[in-house]
Amino acid sequence: MPTQQYDLVIIGAGTGGIPCAVEAAGRGARVLLVEKDGRVGGTLHTTGGHLSAGGTRRQRERGIEDSVAAHLADIERISGGTARADLVELAARNAPETVDWLEDHGFAFAPESPRLVYGHEPYGVARTYYGKDAGLSILAVLKRLLDEQVEAGRVELWLSSTAIGLVEAPGTAPTVTVLRGGVEEVEVRTAALVLATGGFAADVELFEEIEGVPLVSAAHPTSTGDGLVIAREAGAAIAGRGRYLPTFGGLPHPTTPGKAYFEERPLLVAAERPPWEIYVDRAGRRFVAEDEPSIDLKERALAAATDGTFWTVFDDAARRNSVPMVVGWSPEDVLAKAGTRAGVHRADTLAELAALTGIDPAGLAATVDRYNAAVAAGHDAEFGRTHLPAPIAAGPFFAMENHAITLVTFSGVDVDGHLRVRRTDGRAMEGVYALGEIIGAAATCGNSFCGGMLVTPALTFGRLLGRRLAPAPATATA
Ligand SMILES: Cc1cc2nc3c(=O)[nH]c(=O)nc-3n(C[C@H](O)[C@H](O)[C@H](O)COP(=O)(O)OP(=O)(O)OC[C@H]3O[C@@H](n4cnc5c(N)ncnc54)[C@H](O)[C@@H]3O)c2cc1C
Repeated sequence: MPTQQYDLVIIGAGTGGIPCAVEAAGRGARVLLVEKDGRVGGTLHTTGGHLSAGGTRRQRERGIEDSVAAHLADIERISGGTARADLVELAARNAPETVDWLEDHGFAFAPESPRLVYGHEPYGVARTYYGKDAGLSILAVLKRLLDEQVEAGRVELWLSSTAIGLVEAPGTAPTVTVLRGGVEEVEVRTAALVLATGGFAADVELFEEIEGVPLVSAAHPTSTGDGLVIAREAGAAIAGRGRYLPTFGGLPHPTTPGKAYFEERPLLVAAERPPWEIYVDRAGRRFVAEDEPSIDLKERALAAATDGTFWTVFDDAARRNSVPMVVGWSPEDVLAKAGTRAGVHRADTLAELAALTGIDPAGLAATVDRYNAAVAAGHDAEFGRTHLPAPIAAGPFFAMENHAITLVTFSGVDVDGHLRVRRTDGRAMEGVYALGEIIGAAATCGNSFCGGMLVTPALTFGRLLGRRLAPAPATATA
């Protein structure tokens, strides 16, 4: 097998891998960047790309008072202290510099950002930044910087090349086996190896084995856990088990079972659209106050009280008045998609709706009766819902199938505070590092979703590690 040698080898040219390569190469390291896809970017092609940082130049220019300490306090509040304190601190301390750095390199901020965002439990101040083109705005910056380093010959980029094995032993440099171009196995030796291969929410078997729940995935298709698999085979420990939390609701994919379709996102956050509908499970039972302001609480109720599937049930008045039910859909779109798009149903009676969806008919009828009585009384004794605009009374009736969906994986390769991969006996692997979603969302979000606390740490850890792993100037290869 041919063998090659580099100062630094990074597996995965995505959110965290590219900035790592750029920073190391900028300091003189000879870098190999290995990417299994035919293009760079990874999840940046799919992600909302929300970033969070407290105390940026952009906040100061807008008169927004914020700080790292306030960001840390919010993460502690939202995650209930379930994240890795050392990694959260490392991420939050360096996050403002990451956002300023993106800006220095021409990042196309959406003009309204930073702002308060309600898709996850909101922060206390306007701290969420995003680009005009979501993740692609980040990729535009990273790609430009990477292209410069590739053209200068400091980064060698192997596209369509998959890391398939890893050997680590005390006293020797790590070795990774790469299936280069899909045809030739190459053994690569390196002083430092960085695994930046993303999460595993696009691999059903691995997901169900490690996270222990069924998968309805909205993840980027390259997130198949390759890095985790090869690291585990080489002895790495897995951290973050039991921290999984689903995202609240997503329509089924139009054609593919087991997948959700993030582009058609139901608007289920009460602050963004006060609900006219009820949510019911297969038995036709409600499980949470639909106007509950905390999306975190709704996610937990969904995970605890259902099998992960629920339906929003509403009548024609709700269809016309509560807009948009799905981001980008008009009331007419709901009508047009009913019966034609997977998961969207319409019927003249509740009994017919139950038959179409598989919801228990008696359960649905009883629940709607109780809900309508609550609307009439102006008081929902069961769940304490206060937004009770109208009964579900006049057909046609609608039901939209929703799932507890998965965008990211919470478990991942265990790392120490220097991002060195740890073995099951706690020993840090020599020269093997991991960053990004491969270390698990739980590292920086705990058992919760803290806005921007995946993309920002991936970029930040990539930059920090790239700087740290570049060889000292005297020995650096030009
Ligand atoms: C729909 C969606 C919306 C999201 N929104 C947000 C958000 O707004 N804010 C936020 O903070 N987080 C968000 N996330 C999560 C966040 O985007 C990801 O966690 C993050 O982008 C992952 O970065 P990464 O560098 O770890 O992986 P990626 O960016 O996925 O990069 C990994 C790269 O490694 C490559 N690779 C994998 N295996 C191999 C192999 N064996 N050999 C070579 N290459 C390999 C992949 O092809 C890929 O290019 C979202 C996720 C999704 C799916």
